Amino acid sequence: MATNNKHPNPWSPLEAPKEIAKKLSLDPKTLSLFSTDFGLIENKTPLAVFEPSSESDIIDLIKYSNSLPIPFTIAPRGQGHSTHGQGLTNDGVVLNLNRLGDFRNGSEIVVHDEYVDVGAEQLWIDVLRATLKHGLTPLSWTDYMYLSVGGTLSNAGINGTTFRFGPQISNVLELDVVTGKGELLTCSTDKNSELFYSVLGGLGQFGIITRARIALGPAPTRVKWLRLFYTDFSEYTKDQEYLISFNEKNETRGADHVAGYILANLPPPRDVSFYPKQDLPRIDSLISQHGLVYTLELGKFYDNDSHVEEELANLFKGLKFIPEFAFEKDVSYEEFQNRLRVEIEFLRSNGILEVPHPWMDLFIPKSRISDFNDGVFKDIILKQNIPAASIIFYPMNHNKWDDRMSAVTPDEDIFYALGFFRAAFGNGEVEASEAQNEEILEFCKDAGIQAKVYLASYKTQERWVEHYGSKWELIKDRKDEFDPKKILSPGQKIFN
Ligand SMILES: Cc1cc2nc3c(=O)[nH]c(=O)nc-3n(C[C@H](O)[C@H](O)[C@H](O)COP(=O)(O)OP(=O)(O)OC[C@H]3O[C@@H](n4cnc5c(N)ncnc54)[C@H](O)[C@@H]3O)c2cc1C
Repeated sequence: MATNNKHPNPWSPLEAPKEIAKKLSLDPKTLSLFSTDFGLIENKTPLAVFEPSSESDIIDLIKYSNSLPIPFTIAPRGQGHSTHGQGLTNDGVVLNLNRLGDFRNGSEIVVHDEYVDVGAEQLWIDVLRATLKHGLTPLSWTDYMYLSVGGTLSNAGINGTTFRFGPQISNVLELDVVTGKGELLTCSTDKNSELFYSVLGGLGQFGIITRARIALGPAPTRVKWLRLFYTDFSEYTKDQEYLISFNEKNETRGADHVAGYILANLPPPRDVSFYPKQDLPRIDSLISQHGLVYTLELGKFYDNDSHVEEELANLFKGLKFIPEFAFEKDVSYEEFQNRLRVEIEFLRSNGILEVPHPWMDLFIPKSRISDFNDGVFKDIILKQNIPAASIIFYPMNHNKWDDRMSAVTPDEDIFYALGFFRAAFGNGEVEASEAQNEEILEFCKDAGIQAKVYLASYKTQERWVEHYGSKWELIKDRKDEFDPKKILSPGQKIFN
C-alpha cells in the first residue's frame, strides 16, 4: 500500500544558498533510501536529504526555511524505525541526524558519575556499552537497542523497566534543542522548562534534540530472566500488578523488569525464540487448547555475591503461574538488555523484517483490561485469524510519568502497554491488519475504554485533537511558540 502524494512546492533545493546547498543530497539513491521507514507502508520522496556536520548547520537550515515566503518542511530522522511515515516528508527535506556523530570528535557519549551526555543520533546499544565500561547504566530502556536516543525521546521509550523507573523521557536531566525557529537552547526542568517538557514525547514537533543528559545508576552484572505461563487472564494481570507494586528506585525485594507476551492461536509465524526447542510442542499444544496463553516476563538483576535465588523464591510466593510452564535463563546484563536482537534475527530468518509492518501500540487503563481481553483478544484477534508475530502486554505505573511532558497516557494509576507486532506478506494483508487496528480502536471507543495509541499515526488533525484530549490546547500553544511556521516533523500529520 505505497503512497507518494507529490505536492507542488514553490521551493527547489537548487535555490538554496551555497553553504546549505553543499550539504543537500539530491542523489536519487539517497532520496529513495529516505523515502520510507521500517514500516514499509508509507512512501514519500523528499526534495532533498540534508547531511549536517554540526548543530550550526541545522540552525542555518531551519532559519533558511523560515525566511522563505513558503517554508519547506524538515523531517528529522534517527534510525527511521517508525512504522507509518512519521519521519518522512514529500514537500521538504529529511534531516539525516546520523551525520551529527561525525563532528563530535569523541564527545558523542561522555560518561559522568551520575549521568551520561549523548548525541541524540546515538544508538541506545552504544550508550549501554559506553556506560558499562564505567560500571554504570541508564535505568529505563526500550526492548530494541538499535533506536536513536532522539527518536525514542520524541515518543516516550518504554519496556518492562518503565513500571519502576518511568519511561526514558522521565530519565532525562537536560537537553540541547534547536527549535523550529532555529534557536539552539539548553533546557531542563529549571532552565527553558517549557521547551524541555514540550520536546519530551513531542513527536519531533517543537525542536530537534541534538544532545541528551541521561540519568545513570550502578550496573548489575547478571540477570535471572524468566517467562511464566498463565491461562487465566485475571490471575495473570493480578500477578503482573503485584510485581509492579515494588516500584521504588532502590527496591531490592521486587523484580527489575516486568513485561509480558500473549501467545495466541493464530497462523504462524509466532516468535518463540526464547524457549528451548524441546518444549515447543507442549507450548503449542497449550496454545491450541486454550486459544490464548499469557506469559509474564520477569527480569531480576543481581551481582555474583547476592542471594538472588532466595529473593526470587520469596517473590514467587503466591504467584499463580503454571509451575510446569516456567522457563528460566541466566544471562549477562548486556545480553539481557540486548535480548531483542536475538528475536529480530529470528524474525529476519522467517522473512518478517523486509515486509510491511502494520503495527499498533496502545495504552489501556487497568480498570478495563478484562473487557479488552474479551472484546479484543478473544472476539477480534482470535476470530479474525490475522497473524501477529508477537503481542506484548504489561502494566506500568502512572506516577512514573510526568504529565507536563507532551506524551499522553490514560488517566489511571496503572495502565497497560499493548504492542501488536505484525508482518504483511501478501496482497491485501496490510489493509486487513490496518482494518483490524481500526476495529480495535472503534471497539474501545464504543465500550468507553479510554485507550491511547502510542507511536500514533493518525491521518487527520481531528483524530489528533481527540488523541490529545485536554492537552490539545497546550500542544497547539507549544507549536505556535517553538515552531510557528509548522516546519518540523510533517510526517506525524498533526499540523501539516
Ligand atoms: C524493532 C522495533 C522495536 C521497537 N521497540 C520499542 C520499545 O521497546 N519501546 C518503545 O518505546 N519503542 C519501540 N519502538 C518504537 C521506537 O521507539 C520508535 O519508532 C522510535 O521513533 C524509533 O527511533 P528512530 O531513531 O528510528 O526514530 P525515527 O523513526 O527516525 O523518528 C521518529 C520520530 O521522531 C522524530 N525524531 C527523530 N529524531 C529526532 C530528534 N533528534 N529530535 C526531534 N525529533 C526527532 C522524527 O521526525 C519522527 O517524527 C520499536 C521500533 C522497532 C522498529
